[in-house]
Amino acid sequence: MTRPPLAGDTQADLVVVGAGFTGLWTAISAKRRHPSREVVLLESHYVGHGATGRNGGFVSDSLTHGHAHGLALWPDQVDGLAALGRENLEGLRDDVAEQAIAADLRLTGKTLVATTPHQAAALPALGKLLAEHGEHVELLDADGVRADVDSPTYLGALRIRSGSGTLDPAALAAGLRDWAIRLGVRLHEQTSVSSVRPGLVVTASGRVRADRIALATNAYRSPARRLRKYVVPVYDHVLVTEPLTDAQWESLRWPERQGVTDAGNQFHYYRPLADGRILWGGYDAIYYFGSSTDAAREQRDASHRLLARHFVETFPQLAGVRFTHRWAGLIDTSSRFVPYVGADRSGTVGHAIGFTGLGVAYSRFAAGALLDVLDGLTAPDFLTERPTPFPPEPLRYVAVQATRAALAREDRTGQRGPWLRLLDRFGVGFNS
Ligand SMILES: Cc1cc2nc3c(=O)[nH]c(=O)nc-3n(C[C@H](O)[C@H](O)[C@H](O)COP(=O)(O)OP(=O)(O)OC[C@H]3O[C@@H](n4cnc5c(N)ncnc54)[C@H](O)[C@@H]3O)c2cc1C
Repeated sequence: MTRPPLAGDTQADLVVVGAGFTGLWTAISAKRRHPSREVVLLESHYVGHGATGRNGGFVSDSLTHGHAHGLALWPDQVDGLAALGRENLEGLRDDVAEQAIAADLRLTGKTLVATTPHQAAALPALGKLLAEHGEHVELLDADGVRADVDSPTYLGALRIRSGSGTLDPAALAAGLRDWAIRLGVRLHEQTSVSSVRPGLVVTASGRVRADRIALATNAYRSPARRLRKYVVPVYDHVLVTEPLTDAQWESLRWPERQGVTDAGNQFHYYRPLADGRILWGGYDAIYYFGSSTDAAREQRDASHRLLARHFVETFPQLAGVRFTHRWAGLIDTSSRFVPYVGADRSGTVGHAIGFTGLGVAYSRFAAGALLDVLDGLTAPDFLTERPTPFPPEPLRYVAVQATRAALAREDRTGQRGPWLRLLDRFGVGFNS
């Protein structure tokens, strides 16, 4: 049941804007740290309306968007960050258990599959790197991976058993909402924040005076103009099949039901759902001119058709299976692929944005860092350093399309072209 909109003016110690995972964890953590603080959580639609209710449900302990990206950007800190990330995922697991949230959390790891010869050739080195950093990883040849999950497109795989798993994101969001309410958080849905300034949050139906404000609006146009250049919204598309028959599941095998991703830049992610369906998403990330986040873009036939074609190419034994659900969600892409946490000059209006498609577990950690910033405590440098901003339009559109084309070219050829090498030199993401 949704909570009523804000009606009239009120006061709080902390206002959190946006009730996705980041806003929910921020509100919960604030109450856990200081139970007497008045916390108001404002959401323009309903809890989990954004990426939180639409994602693939992969959980990862990585705070660096993978070890390779972490080594490229923060070589001296990478093992420390890996330890913090493990602690965060364990904390998430414990919170879910203690609060009895039925989120179907399964820490079964994942399988990274190679579907082109150059992806397969890169697996041994990546497996070695992961093992050196403490991951439990097994290198599989084509027969080995097909004995586990059967697709004729698989040329090899890494079965990574540590550090990740899957969950039901909508169930987690509902559980966090209930927990927040039990802790005394005042949640108002259908309440869109139109502007913020130190001490004041303005909505159409009332204003909140507050000592501290936490912005958790992800890929949506931020109420704080200064933040808009740090994130570009990219639509990511998802399909869900009808429930498969027992015979269809037998044709796939997949005994551990772990999530699978392929190793390209433009990758698919997929996993069995608890009710016998397959969730199949990714690949075709679309940016619209002017950072548009118009909800009308959420049903893009061309992207969903492309995904459906890739599904049948991957699992020809499932030809004819129907897709019963399709949607798109917004990824808040940051130029360095990890969130940007910080505050305005007054130190009282904070933000955590830019998860770049890896926020299901990460949001819990970023929420803690956001509260640290607002409480005047030290938050990790790698989150608080400003990322390279995206240029204004029309350059932004040109740069995003050029990068997208370069990533697709690398997927086809296995060669990192001049544009991506240039971005690498400036420490701008895209090498995970
Ligand atoms: C299709 C898809 C698949 C993904 N798959 C994965 C995955 O498998 N694993 C993973 O780790 N990550 C994944 N992600 C990313 C992950 O879902 C996000 O990083 C995470 O949910 C971010 O949570 P958030 O709370 O920051 O943002 P959101 O969930 O987007 O929440 C932001 C909220 O702010 C609200 N809001 C916006 N503006 C205002 C305003 N002015 N006033 C009030 N409220 C406002 C929105 O309505 C929204 O509810 C995926 C994302 C997408 C889109």
